[in-house]
Amino acid sequence: MKITVHGGAREIGGSCIGVQTKDCKIALDYGTKFEESSSNHFPEDFDAVIISHAHLDHSGQLLSLSKKKPVIVGSKITREVTVALLKDMIKVQNQNDYNYPYFPHNANAISRHWWVRDYVALPGMTIKLHPAGHVAGARMTRLNAENKEVLYTGDFCVHDSEILEGCNIEALPKKPDVLIAESTYGGKVRSPRNELIDEFFMRVLTAMERKGNVLIPTFAFHRSQEMAKRIDDAVKNGLLPRYHVYTISNLANKITGYFNENKEFFIKKIQRQKQPFKYSHVKHLYRTGQIKEPAVVICTSGFGHAGASLRLLKDWAEDENNLVLLTSGYLPPDSPLKYAKEERKFRNNGDEISVKAEIEQIELSGHADQLELVQMVEKLKPKRTILVHGDIEQSQALSKEIQEMTEVCIPEKGETIAI
Ligand SMILES: [Zn+2]
Repeated sequence: MKITVHGGAREIGGSCIGVQTKDCKIALDYGTKFEESSSNHFPEDFDAVIISHAHLDHSGQLLSLSKKKPVIVGSKITREVTVALLKDMIKVQNQNDYNYPYFPHNANAISRHWWVRDYVALPGMTIKLHPAGHVAGARMTRLNAENKEVLYTGDFCVHDSEILEGCNIEALPKKPDVLIAESTYGGKVRSPRNELIDEFFMRVLTAMERKGNVLIPTFAFHRSQEMAKRIDDAVKNGLLPRYHVYTISNLANKITGYFNENKEFFIKKIQRQKQPFKYSHVKHLYRTGQIKEPAVVICTSGFGHAGASLRLLKDWAEDENNLVLLTSGYLPPDSPLKYAKEERKFRNNGDEISVKAEIEQIELSGHADQLELVQMVEKLKPKRTILVHGDIEQSQALSKEIQEMTEVCIPEKGETIAI
């Protein structure tokens, strides 16, 4: 068996790992990089592609397979959200580039070749998917072929969140020959989640008390719904006062509809509610012009590159009463939010905007931190561990913690490991 890391090696973005046996060749994820939309050139001769979850850095390159038609495997919500995100990407790209080669029918072709399964048998290979936490529908891939067992984590998270169960390590195969693990936070130990949530509410409440606006840039998929639900419940429970709270993202609104229709992907408490993601105190808006200030606004893009979050960042940056709350730990190098946070200024259309608003980063992302990653290796005892989906410093820091328990490899892009 040969494992080749085509993308997501020593970096975050563009995840793709090829597994080749004498009988078949599959890909684990097929993602785009954050900065570029079509820069990856992965092999296209796969018999099957397993998509761990619907974030585009794991699924966004699928359009290049829309003519090859391999079998695509993943959970139902991963299929629905991936296709919605691909269509949104196609719309944006076609507005910017007349030569962009994809159209909505290419995204529909992906949907038609998608098998919603937790178990698949391919020539000489069986594949079983396990819940991974992280986002709704995220799955780990357990693969058996040629008397070898491989477990690919995709992005995962062990602790529960308000709406999603974490991954159950006990249900995963012990002593796999190879563990391919994400290492986004391989070098970081996070504060307990309840402390982070307390801090989040404290910051929002303080900004509300000074009648400030609160901008929460968020991904349309999962984080937006989780955040809206968190704030809606907090207002219901009296933890936060009544305030104008909005979501602005048609894509997020569409995905919220999928969440209401697929409650089985969430924790029991959510499943018992009739329309769990129909909020009482959070209103969906179509445009920033509809906002009544002061307000809390949950909107895309999560990195502040474009859309409502960039517009509001520009409008609200210069007022010290306002608050920008980042809940993702990772910001791409060219992100206006990164400049706003670190340099206290950013450029937009040639203008320099100075930042007086408070900018706070509270990491509520659904990735395993170092403790969870080490815990997984301790419990599973893999013979060999391949670290992907992490900057080299993060992977190396994790490697130090686990190298006594397992043989660690941090491959370069394109590197093949024979097992
Ligand atoms: Zn992800």
